[in-house]
Amino acid sequence: MPVIALSPMWDDDKARSCMSHDYVAAVEHAGGAPMILPFINNENALRELLSRADGLILTGGADVDPARYGEEMQSCCGSISPERDSIDYKLIRIALEMKLPILAICRGMQILNCYFGGTLYQDIGEQYGKELFHPNYSIPRSDAHMMKYVTGSHLREVIGQDESWVNSRHHQAVKKLADCMAPAAYAPDGLLEAMEPKDGSPILAIQWHPESLEERLPEQKNLFAWLMREAGK
Ligand code: MN
Repeated sequence: MPVIALSPMWDDDKARSCMSHDYVAAVEHAGGAPMILPFINNENALRELLSRADGLILTGGADVDPARYGEEMQSCCGSISPERDSIDYKLIRIALEMKLPILAICRGMQILNCYFGGTLYQDIGEQYGKELFHPNYSIPRSDAHMMKYVTGSHLREVIGQDESWVNSRHHQAVKKLADCMAPAAYAPDGLLEAMEPKDGSPILAIQWHPESLEERLPEQKNLFAWLMREAGK
C-alpha cells in the first residue's frame, strides 16, 4: 500500500499542527496510507520520514511570505507562516531528490511555483480581477466555477475531460509561472489554476481542492488514483 506523506498545517493561535481531514480521507479512499508529517523544521528528520513515503501531497493553508518571490507584503496579502514556508521548501527539495510523485494543492501549488522561481498575486481581486469570485470559502464542496484543462497536458489526460466544475477556496494564484512549469488548466477568467513540469516528472499542481470533491466527482478522484499509480512505481 503506497504511503502518502501530507505536509503539515499549522494553527498559530493554538500552537498546534493540524490537518484537514479531507486530505486524509481522499488518500484512504484511493487505497493509500496517509502519513501526516509533524510541524518540524529539521532537515534530517524530514528526510528520514520522507524516506518511508512513496508520494507527497503539499496541502493548502496560509499565504506564502512574499519575500519568497522578492516582493513586499501588501495589505491585501493574508496571514503568512514563514516557518511553514521553510518546512515546505525542505519537503519539496527532499521529495525532488527522492523523485517522489507530488500532488500540490492550493497553497501547495503556490509554494511550488515560488520554489521554482515564479511569483504570486497577493490577492486576486486586488491585483488580477474581479470577474470571478475565487475566495468562495462558504461552499467548500460545491461547484464555484468551471475549469478548462489544457489540451495535450498530462493533467487533461489524468482528469479525462476537457472541462469540469471545481470548488474555489483561494484568494491568491500564480502570477509569473516558473520557467520549468507548463500551464495545465485555466479558470474562465483566464486565471492559471494548474501547472505541471515541462520535463514530464510526476508532479501535478492545482489550485482547487479535489480532496473535497472526490467523493462526488469521479474526474477529481482520478487525481488521487494518479498519485497512487505513481507512488507504486
Ligand atoms: Mn478558483
